Amino acid sequence: MSRFCVYLGSRDGRDPAFLEATRALGRELAARGHCLVYGGARIGLMGALANAVLEGGGDVIGVMPDHLVEREQAHQGLPTLIRVNNMHERKASMAAHADAFIALPGGIGTLEELFEAWTWQYLGLHDKPIGVLDTAGFYSPLLTFLDSTVEHGFLNARTRSCLIDAEEPAALLDALEARLAETAT
Ligand code: AMP
Repeated sequence: MSRFCVYLGSRDGRDPAFLEATRALGRELAARGHCLVYGGARIGLMGALANAVLEGGGDVIGVMPDHLVEREQAHQGLPTLIRVNNMHERKASMAAHADAFIALPGGIGTLEELFEAWTWQYLGLHDKPIGVLDTAGFYSPLLTFLDSTVEHGFLNARTRSCLIDAEEPAALLDALEARLAETAT
């Protein structure tokens, strides 16, 4: 059992593929016996992911700052909802509870969280694997841009390769589980 911290949109996005992939990831997490750690909201892809894990009989930890409880509608059906004081505490708590990180499609909140997890890994503050789910090519422009930052000499190829990407939830979990198994040995 591992704990996967998932960053994802507080909205559904336009393409129904985002919601479908989110639910598929939730089912996979539950079926594989993993625990979901996420932002604790009931709205958007965030709520859909938590519901899919719960429906699959999986465990969920939500982390919600007090000031967002109403705006993001804290999910009242979670086994564990951790209330924190601010966004910094939220990210710290989510990261502390996680063995690995996943970014699904989302907006600037999702991107901010993804880049913090990745830059902290780069700085050696943790060595937890990080993956992005490239549903319907959502992350392809970003991945291409990151490749170009290597070509421009601002990012080393090894750091770039630490960001794992896959188009399907099962394939992404396979890759992250393999990375977790490597670091455990
Ligand atoms: P979004 O991807 O913008 O829909 O946001 C997804 C989640 O990220 C929401 O729960 C936001 O509250 C959260 N979020 C937004 N900005 C930040 C931030 N600076 N640090 C941590 N979480 C954030």
